[in-house]
Amino acid sequence: KADGRGTWRFFEPEMDARMQARRQLELDLRRALAAGDFQLLYQPQIDLASRRITGFEALLRWHHPERGLVSAADFIPLAEETGLIVPLGKWVLRQACAEAAGWPPEISVAVNVSAVQFGSARLVDAVAEALAAAGLPGERLEIEVTEAIMLQDTAQTMAVLHRLRDLGVRISMDDFGTGYSSLGYLRSFPFDKIKIDQSFVRDIEKRGDARAIVRAISGLGDSLGMRTSAEGVETPEQLEQLRADGCTEGQGWLFGRPLPASAVRSLLQAAPGVVESNAA
Ligand code: C2E
Ligand code: MG
Ligand code: MG
Ligand code: MG
Repeated sequence: KADGRGTWRFFEPEMDARMQARRQLELDLRRALAAGDFQLLYQPQIDLASRRITGFEALLRWHHPERGLVSAADFIPLAEETGLIVPLGKWVLRQACAEAAGWPPEISVAVNVSAVQFGSARLVDAVAEALAAAGLPGERLEIEVTEAIMLQDTAQTMAVLHRLRDLGVRISMDDFGTGYSSLGYLRSFPFDKIKIDQSFVRDIEKRGDARAIVRAISGLGDSLGMRTSAEGVETPEQLEQLRADGCTEGQGWLFGRPLPASAVRSLLQAAPGVVESNAA
């Protein structure tokens, strides 16, 4: 502490405030988990050829007492750092499976699982327990993983993926094209679906490079026997291009915003499987 004393003192208050805010958020998260202040919203996933709903992706929200509805992106990173993602992820799995069990049998549910959860073999147990508790067949559950899982212990990750598939669960590669993994991983890891990151979809009309990437991923998926889904589809023009470029599925505000479970039930009752949108 003798050297750089001035620097230390200069940074101290600011760091302190940041650390305190973090600690507060962590406390809030723990309390929220105990109090049941989390909710899942469900966003429809669409088959682009038939324009039918194939399933819904579960997206986590936090009803914060002061801040209102907090988006996953704002607290998942801290939940990952603190390890809270493990109990929280368990809750997500149980909740999503329980709600999906009330949907028609051809409609699946997709759950995001973070790389931190993947590091533990207990993930397989958590998935098996969630399926059993809900009475949901594994075939109706999709687990979305990001490229980050492939940077971890490959043998362990591979083993977990295969055990999940043994349960009938399908695996989707989320946000594809934004991470650091090599294309070779697509060959060795057992993915059923590649989700093309919304950054490429957003630029598909304006930028030739984005379109070239969407085309290449769709072609790759097709050759490797994987479905491809475009994230963040917002306009009919994007949809048209995606179809032309061979993408098989889509998700985005054009088809539907994330909805509470009750709204999903009425949607499925009103028009089972058919998308009502401005996409026509
Ligand atoms: P993601 O899995 O890639 O989810 C897609 C995100 O894009 C969601 O944000 C969704 O609300 C948003 N989105 C959907 N359609 C559109 C669109 O047309 N335009 C735009 N601009 N955005 C759209 P959200 O819900 O804030 O989630 C952010 C990320 O947080 C997710 O990205 C996922 O990585 C993570 N996440 C969400 N729920 C969970 C969870 O239960 N567990 C874990 N581990 N991560 C989660
Ligand atoms: Mg996802
Ligand atoms: Mg994504
Ligand atoms: Mg994302």
